[in-house]
Amino acid sequence: LAQEAQRGVSRGAMPADAVRISSNENPLGPCPEALEAIYKIAKYGGRYQPFGETAAFIKTAAEVEGVKPSYIAPFAGSSDPLHRTTVAFTSPERSFVMGDPGYEAGARSAQFIGAKVHRIPLRKDFSHDVEAMCKADPNAGVIYICNPNNPTGTLTSRKDIEYVLANKPKGSILLLDEAYVHFSEMTPASELVAADKEVIILRTFSKAYGMAGIRAGMAIARPDLLEKMRPYGAGMLPITGLVAATASMQVKTLVAERRKINKDIREDTFEFLTAKKFTFVPSQSNKFMLEVHKPGMEVVKALAAEKIYIGRVWPIWPTHVRVSIGTQDEMNKFKTALVKVMA
Ligand code: PLP
Repeated sequence: LAQEAQRGVSRGAMPADAVRISSNENPLGPCPEALEAIYKIAKYGGRYQPFGETAAFIKTAAEVEGVKPSYIAPFAGSSDPLHRTTVAFTSPERSFVMGDPGYEAGARSAQFIGAKVHRIPLRKDFSHDVEAMCKADPNAGVIYICNPNNPTGTLTSRKDIEYVLANKPKGSILLLDEAYVHFSEMTPASELVAADKEVIILRTFSKAYGMAGIRAGMAIARPDLLEKMRPYGAGMLPITGLVAATASMQVKTLVAERRKINKDIREDTFEFLTAKKFTFVPSQSNKFMLEVHKPGMEVVKALAAEKIYIGRVWPIWPTHVRVSIGTQDEMNKFKTALVKVMA
């Protein structure tokens, strides 16, 4: 019910001047090179693949990630491969293990097919408790780690990721969701895939690349692992998403530029919150958890009345709300409204 209410608040009709800091989107949108690529390809939209768009995407992604082309599988975002991997590797006998609070989409598809879900609280430093996750169930099918985590924006170290690979139950895989990796200083984990480990990495163009509504993403993994998840869905990707993603990856300065913009606005917001004596989780990504000392939904609704649309509340932390980082102007409006509703 709480989730339905939240969906209503964050996805319902919003006024034109709404501040949308609910869904970890990127207010910068696609880069100019991506827009140009979309414009050029749109008139060929009557064809599935007018100029081999999928091959070009795979070639570029493989170069960027340092893996062979056969280790890249493009999808229209990362939700699709997240669900496919869950369905392929969990079952009523093989469970899904995740951090809590964590991104819930995989747990929902696991539950849908009757797989048990183990929610393991994050450690005190907000990293994933990898020891507890590996011990949660000897029959686990998927160990899901979101890094940086959604909703906390916090990191789990490479050492901990490697611990999971060395200690996870036999027959399970590590599903490493790096949707937000470009916002942090962390090195993406593609080299673990290049080393043929039992890991499937998910990436999306919805976040740093600003293409949530255009749709592109990928799974990066050993070809035999990709083969296992491939059958659970079908269909071509939009050529607009493919060419925009390829063009974005070719702009070598883009990720660093956007990381800095996000970091500067996040640090300004944190300085303000600290000065006003708020408590928040020190995120390294484009969203953070704010402690509001009362049921989070009350604050979500009060801010919505001020046309500030923030994100969800997680059951394990009922007095925290998730706030995405918008533009500086949007965050300034958020600050003013927050002080008003918390007074
Ligand atoms: N993974 C995480 C951690 C997310 O937060 C999201 C979206 O918010 C997704 C995956 C799915 O996004 P998309 O399908 O747009 O790539």
